[in-house]
Amino acid sequence: MSTFWSPGVAALTPYVPGEQPRQRMIKLNTNENPYPPSRGVESVLRHFSCEQLRRYPDPESLALRDMLARTYNVTREQVFVGNGSDEVLAFAFRAFFVRDGEALAIPEYTYSFYPVYCQLYGIELQKIALNDRWEVPLEHFPEKGHAGIAFANPNAPTGHAHSRQDIKALLERQRERVVLVDEAYYGFGSESAVPLVEDHPNLLVTGTFSKSRSLAGMRIGFAIGSRELIEGLERIKDSFNSYPIDPLASAVGIAALEDTQHYDECCRAIMETREATAQALKDLDIDVLPSRANFLFVRPTRHPAADVAAQLRAAGILVRHFGTPGLSDWLRISIGTEAEMTALTGALAAMNQTP
Ligand code: PMP
Repeated sequence: MSTFWSPGVAALTPYVPGEQPRQRMIKLNTNENPYPPSRGVESVLRHFSCEQLRRYPDPESLALRDMLARTYNVTREQVFVGNGSDEVLAFAFRAFFVRDGEALAIPEYTYSFYPVYCQLYGIELQKIALNDRWEVPLEHFPEKGHAGIAFANPNAPTGHAHSRQDIKALLERQRERVVLVDEAYYGFGSESAVPLVEDHPNLLVTGTFSKSRSLAGMRIGFAIGSRELIEGLERIKDSFNSYPIDPLASAVGIAALEDTQHYDECCRAIMETREATAQALKDLDIDVLPSRANFLFVRPTRHPAADVAAQLRAAGILVRHFGTPGLSDWLRISIGTEAEMTALTGALAAMNQTP
């Protein structure tokens, strides 16, 4: 602990991301896409002119916002972009949820960065317990007197997604404060809430290029909402982070959005592998929750989850074990290639042979 740190920083529990191994391993711990990005992305990288780096980027990131607007059938004014959706979420938390005496309602188990932002910005938290099917019970979110609502759909690390209809029903009861729906894992069989933005000026949907578009290293995230909400984010951005998305990321993002065929094929392959893996794990006596994301949330029944994670690691396979109370019996396993998942189920089958 340093005496130079301000009290807020001293009290902060930092976010700990999944391990990034130095040696080659089968990496199923951070929900990256196992397939390369679109060939269009490769071509942008090959032909990108250094001359463009000499200048500051377009302060409004118009080209990428226009392409996102076309993709999601909204207007440019309804789109905000940032360096990964983590950054966009940080802006949103600061812009909408810092309210004295009111708490932000989030699910008890969800993306572990939300509590970090709350600590960082002094936002009180109200955690809503998941139901017995490990789903976010939207009907349990408070209706009044709160600073807002934020949840991931599909949720992480559980993988359950609510339908657009469910979210519409939630929004009918929530008019006062912002409802943030984090769609980082959209693309793998869930419905997007973006079409609800038109009738619900308090709905903010965030998204990322890190998962379904295979661009975690490029850091591109976005938010879609009413003009009013986007303007709120722009105010924060000006004072907090004065640069827009860089020109290389912007060009790469546009190329990824243009290649709808690659996107569809990649997502389909991941969903097929997910379903085959879920069955193979169940055959090994492992409990598996239904998932509409690019990962599975599973509970080994023959050995403690922490031991399974450690043994898989020794076998060269990384999965995510959360030390969090309540989650310690579970593992989150990202969907890799078919071959990677065969290696995983093979290693787990071998473990089942040991007492
Ligand atoms: N939301 C959720 C639910 C996530 O799991 C992640 C990835 N860890 C993010 C947002 C952030 O993704 P990125 O910053 O790569 O866009």
